Amino acid sequence: MADAPAVDLRSDTVTLPSPGMRAAMASAAVGDDVKGEDATVRALEQQVAQHLGKQAGLFAPSGTQSNLLGLFAHCERGDEYIVGDQAHTYQYEGGGAAVLGSIQPQPVAMSRDGTLSLSAIEAVIKPEDFHFAKTRVVCLENTHGGVPLPLDYAPQVRDLCQQHGLSLHLDGARLLNAAVAQGYPAAQLAEPFDSISLCLSKGLGAPVGSVLVGDESFIQRARRWRKVLGGGMRQAGIIAAAGIYALEHHVQRLAEDHRRTAEIAQTLAEKFGGEYVRYATNMVHLSLDTHIYQALCEQLTQRGIVVGRPRWVVHRDIDDEGVAQICQVIRAFSLKSAD
Ligand SMILES: *Cc1c(COP(=O)(O)O)cnc(C)c1O
Repeated sequence: MADAPAVDLRSDTVTLPSPGMRAAMASAAVGDDVKGEDATVRALEQQVAQHLGKQAGLFAPSGTQSNLLGLFAHCERGDEYIVGDQAHTYQYEGGGAAVLGSIQPQPVAMSRDGTLSLSAIEAVIKPEDFHFAKTRVVCLENTHGGVPLPLDYAPQVRDLCQQHGLSLHLDGARLLNAAVAQGYPAAQLAEPFDSISLCLSKGLGAPVGSVLVGDESFIQRARRWRKVLGGGMRQAGIIAAAGIYALEHHVQRLAEDHRRTAEIAQTLAEKFGGEYVRYATNMVHLSLDTHIYQALCEQLTQRGIVVGRPRWVVHRDIDDEGVAQICQVIRAFSLKSAD
């Protein structure tokens, strides 16, 4: 029986595997990946590494884990990493770098476009002194709230990192959304970074997984940490096959998500005023008054559209018909006050 996805705006994590993806999973060649014997996992790791212009890749069960593996492979106990104060790795990953890795986060104010000011980064890089944690790595995010990093930004951070002997990691959960939206090869956006974590289970539509890429010795260290964290999986080719399928079939189509996002955002702006609506790539952010937003959510829910917080995410399980339904509710919206 086929799954029938509801129109669900909560996140691009809700995408269900397509029949073609399921077929690829069912017929995947597998082996024990902890022993390095799963041909499909190896193929996925090489494919992502090549796509992002790096030497090697490592398949991980989640983006949270692949970011952790990246930080652990860059740092020692007692080191610190510089990170945006709104970044996923800082806000939404359970404090794992500190909890599990003894790595102290040094947050820096983050702009809506994901940038941290270069002077703010430089100001928190610690001098060589045993009073301080050792600053080891800067971590950026692309996209941030759907917004791609400005094209000229990461190279400037890379130069700063090189001056100070720091590594540069990217939480690139949705890097391919940025690449498709900006019309640049992903490898070019990835070039300034020593390591990148890419999610397969967001807009790319795979059910599970993330891939960390970097140079060979870095990935070897990360592979050790993956075992320590319990992320070593056995016949994982079953799920890696979905990642390969996604890379082959679901990258260019991200442009459709972006087009649909713009359509929803424009409808919202016509209804409520552009000052309440921001959007980029596959996300819309609303800043309506709470009671208006709640009433809108109720009217969407009545039509079977699933919504959560005022950040809407468009993905491959929302087609043009779904967009038309959403836009119809928006256009018809009125504050039906009972009191
Ligand atoms: C989803 C996401 C991650 C990883 O989350 P998981 O749920 O662990 O896969 C990391 N960074 C960003 C920006 C994300 O959106």
